[in-house]
Amino acid sequence: MAGKLYIVATPIGNLSDITLRAIETLKSVDIIAAEDTRHTLKLLNHLEIKKTLISYYKQTEKTKSDVLIEKLLEGKNIAVVSDAGTPGISDPGEEIIRNAIEAGIEIIPIPGACAAINGLIVSGMSTKEFLFVGFLPVNKKEKKEKLEEIKELRQTIIFYEAPHKIRKTLEDMMEIIGNRKITLAREMTKIHEDFTRGTIEEVLEKLGEPKGEFVIIMEGNKEENNKSIFSKMSLEEHFLIYEKQGLDKKQIIKKIAEDRNVSKNEIYKYFYKK
Ligand code: SAM
Repeated sequence: MAGKLYIVATPIGNLSDITLRAIETLKSVDIIAAEDTRHTLKLLNHLEIKKTLISYYKQTEKTKSDVLIEKLLEGKNIAVVSDAGTPGISDPGEEIIRNAIEAGIEIIPIPGACAAINGLIVSGMSTKEFLFVGFLPVNKKEKKEKLEEIKELRQTIIFYEAPHKIRKTLEDMMEIIGNRKITLAREMTKIHEDFTRGTIEEVLEKLGEPKGEFVIIMEGNKEENNKSIFSKMSLEEHFLIYEKQGLDKKQIIKKIAEDRNVSKNEIYKYFYKK
């Protein structure tokens, strides 16, 4: 019988945030696939768990995933962990999950810390609808295009950013998106945990020397003229914005109708009677 694949979230700083179920799972599996085995070894030593570790990181995801699927098919139970937080969220995980689904292997999520969600919930911004962007593209042009695309969105937007890039990214956001309200969540669950709330300009003034790990949570577009922005777009362009966010056709039609203050039926007819 094939083994099971456990996707195990680990702490994002404070080791006490490991869940009881994560500990039980790490103890019970045959193999732990880790983004950085040295990093995970520290956590395992802290938990007094001895286990076979296999490295599984972004650059080796494809080949390592095949090896792990073979072991799962042989009947071994495997846990996937990343360096911190939830695997698959700006971390390796996607590839093995897709392959395991194809191979008919049972996949079990073991929930826990995720920097994006923890930053969002204390941001003071709407948690009703949000978009997780993660890291912006490194390429200058692509980064600019992504920010242009984000500019019109009404949902709260969540970004990850490295400390050496945070100042420049906030400046780029201010230039392209404007002086929006943000919350900068720094070093969550750690000794220097800090939340700076204000406009981008205000947060930049308070930033000092950026050290540690950061999540940027940005308020969605609240401009009253949002409707007129959308009305300047073609319906196809409008559709593409939500398609890129991964919404299905039905959800997209609903969103477009809301944005344009027209009936869903009208938008539905446009796309289906062409
Ligand atoms: N998989 C992880 C998760 O579930 O949050 C994210 C991994 S990603 C490679 C690392 C980024 O997450 C960091 O650059 C930072 O933006 C964010 N991050 C991770 N831990 C954090 C913390 N304790 N405080 C603030 N941001 C954090």
